[in-house]
Amino acid sequence: MSTDCLFCKIIAGELPSEQVYSDDKVVVFKDIDPKAPIHLLIVPRVHIISLNEIDDDALTIHMMRLLPKLAKDQGLNNGFRTIINTGPAGGQIVFHIHIHLLGGGNLSGTGFAM
Ligand code: 5GP
Ligand code: ZN
Repeated sequence: MSTDCLFCKIIAGELPSEQVYSDDKVVVFKDIDPKAPIHLLIVPRVHIISLNEIDDDALTIHMMRLLPKLAKDQGLNNGFRTIINTGPAGGQIVFHIHIHLLGGGNLSGTGFAM
């Protein structure tokens, strides 16, 4: 855990979140400022800064395989969007790696924008 990391504090229960799923590897909670009717953040329990730093293959696969299951649980049967922002120029503002899962509206044609 990184003591000055927002997501580490959420995972530790020191800050509130609307959690929808958790297991031994990840916690999933609702984004505080949703960009779609459903906007979840898939966050590993371990503090990894970004995609540039991740080297855990099992964790990577776990998160990827979890995405369609979460989408199905959320009723996103017609599709969903995943985003990983990496580094300041990539739009990352919380430096604890996370995958955005968005859906619930029609995101087709909205390009790269969140
Ligand atoms: P990034 O730009 O780093 O990929 O995305 C960070 C995301 O975290 C943003 O979508 C932002 O709305 C969300 N966020 C920031 N602070 C909080 C918070 O305290 N709680 C929750 N649930 N989400 C947050
Ligand atoms: Zn962290």
